[in-house]
Amino acid sequence: MTSTAIDVQVVPSFVQDEWWTPENTSASSAEVRDASTGELLALVSTDGLDTAAAIEYGRTVGHRGLAGLTFHQRALKLKELAQYLNGRRKELYEISARTGATKIDSLVDIDGGIGVLFTFGSKGRRELPNSTVVIDGTPEVLSKDGSFIGEHVYTSIPGVAVQINAFNFPVWGMLEKFAPAFLAGVPTIVKPATPTGYLTEAAVRMMIESGILPAGSLQLISGSARDLLDHLDYRDMVSFTGSASTANKLKNHTNVVEGGVRFTSETDSLNASILGPDAVPGTPEFDAYVKSLVTEMTVKAGQKCTSIRRAIVPKALVDDVVAAAAKRIEERVVLGDPRAEGVTMGALASVEQRDGVRSSVQALLDGGAKIAFGSLDAPETVQADGSRGVVADGAFLAPILLTWDNPEAEALHSVEAFGPVSSVIGYEDTADAVRLAALGGGSLVATVASNDPETVREVVTGIAGHHGRVHVLNRETARSSTGHGSPVPHLVHGGPGRAGGGEELGGIRAVKHHMQRTAIQGSPNMLTAITGVWHTGADQNFDETHPFRKDLATLKIGDAMASELREVTLEDITAFANSTGDTFYAHTNQEAAEANPFFPGIVAHGYLLLSWGAGLFVEPAPGPVLANYGLENLRFITPVAAGDSIRVTLTAKKITPRETDEYGEVAWDAVLHNQNDEIVATYDVLTLVEKQRA
Ligand code: NDP
Repeated sequence: MTSTAIDVQVVPSFVQDEWWTPENTSASSAEVRDASTGELLALVSTDGLDTAAAIEYGRTVGHRGLAGLTFHQRALKLKELAQYLNGRRKELYEISARTGATKIDSLVDIDGGIGVLFTFGSKGRRELPNSTVVIDGTPEVLSKDGSFIGEHVYTSIPGVAVQINAFNFPVWGMLEKFAPAFLAGVPTIVKPATPTGYLTEAAVRMMIESGILPAGSLQLISGSARDLLDHLDYRDMVSFTGSASTANKLKNHTNVVEGGVRFTSETDSLNASILGPDAVPGTPEFDAYVKSLVTEMTVKAGQKCTSIRRAIVPKALVDDVVAAAAKRIEERVVLGDPRAEGVTMGALASVEQRDGVRSSVQALLDGGAKIAFGSLDAPETVQADGSRGVVADGAFLAPILLTWDNPEAEALHSVEAFGPVSSVIGYEDTADAVRLAALGGGSLVATVASNDPETVREVVTGIAGHHGRVHVLNRETARSSTGHGSPVPHLVHGGPGRAGGGEELGGIRAVKHHMQRTAIQGSPNMLTAITGVWHTGADQNFDETHPFRKDLATLKIGDAMASELREVTLEDITAFANSTGDTFYAHTNQEAAEANPFFPGIVAHGYLLLSWGAGLFVEPAPGPVLANYGLENLRFITPVAAGDSIRVTLTAKKITPRETDEYGEVAWDAVLHNQNDEIVATYDVLTLVEKQRA
């Protein structure tokens, strides 16, 4: 079935693995309209929806389905989902146009969302173990004999991840929160914003139709759902995106304040873009700065949480920046219905939103702003049939640039006009620029455009504490940068203070926000059992079969081998020095080596010891071990002098079968000892081993 919300009258919800619509639409149903034409598209209502049952379904059925999958299996599903949605992008684009989004806007929302799935699909397999528990840090030894140790582990939170989303990114906003939650093993309940929730519904419908997701791992509540928080407790989390006032209301809910619901938010943010004093007109930095400013005003019609609201420029350059930005807008911006040829900027999401932006601009004007470019009048736009005119029911607003006599005016740093509106203000010196940026009270992102490393260092270190992300723009990045306004899944998206204090993205950090960190204390054997990773001091199995002869079907954590001692002679050290060219004095000059406080005299090269270690542990015949792809955590501890001997112990520490290959990764704990049983070196040897030896 490929039907979408715009074919039906009421935008359905998907709860308890079934599509649901209210029996009767009532006066409380909200109307949703095409942003460019005002045409009625659908009704939205949650009247009669059993929110508590949906939450309980996630906590039970949803959790069961996800708990049966490892991080790698979940990551693979995210990749499959991304590929599936990629194949249906065109359908989503068509629906997206109704929200006022141009093709570029839809690309940011739809392809950007699919890109997040791909990124987590890949990062999950590269950076997480193929299990359900993540170890945080190294073990702490808590008893003298090593029999009692402690370690931190992350496990999935036992509740649901509820996302309450804004209207501006109906697809990306849902997927950027869904991907880390899914990877963490936490079922999601999506509550999109009403004006554009029909696009989210279409994307969720496709995700369900893909058949890729386990039961209960994704539910959708289309509509107001004002009772959502009433049914949540400390097991659950809410990730909110929207206005600061709603965020404040929700985070003061009893179940958050007293019940311990985890609540993170991403709210309005008066993001700054700072032009360095060196970036005068004619420099590549000035051009890149103006281009970025206009892009952020016009993409999504400026309805981006990351848009530039305050352009902070050297006082003498305010007029130049306004003139250059105005010229670029005049030359490039064609406002209209995104379905018409040549339109480069679409409508706001709804007429209510347009009116909201107008009143925010009025508040800015009342607070001391002057319109330097543009106007609040209803603009003439291109309609779908190519004609031009003013559409009374279209949510259009043309770009507006404001200037201020007082760069410290309160409204400038507190009122967010969530549309194509930016203020250009002047600073005295870079310290002043930092101070003005900080008046935003905490923001998602700031750009610093300068080619002077000292200016960049001073400004970035000055503003970093007020921001979640800082984007440095100069001639080297002007073409390659992903842009001021585009959060990337690898890096933090969120910001302190007014920006909400959350951190939605940030690679695997975002996954861990959906997990509980717990300190586990116990014996090495018990920590090994809990984490699936062998811990020093846990049992080892020295059976007759060398572990290199075991494929993944037979190899077990703790399988080990121990070598005999091998003596290191001065001739060995000299020969190694000559053949490698590493004639560092500690290996060749007795007098100089003795004068070194760390060495008793000439000592063996660390790399000689590693090479000998390999010679001591290897089982040379062809077998299931395919390759050695590196070492980790290498430390040389006790020097080895001529006449000393070394031996190696090798233990299977971590086994990671690869989901899509015929082999997996095995990390071996390697320890070199000397003849006095002192530890000479410790390291992990990384190998690829066949799953099944033919
Ligand atoms: P809101 O804060 O009103 O709505 C955001 C989301 O919260 C919507 O899904 C909304 O649902 C939901 N919501 C509102 N009240 C409750 C409640 N009591 N319980 C549960 N859910 C609730 O923001 P808007 O979308 O109206 O946007 C208003 C302003 O917010 C914008 O003008 C802009 O300034 C800012 N904004 C900031 C964004 C950011 O990313 N930082 C993004 C978008 C907006 P419903 O739609 O059903 O009311």
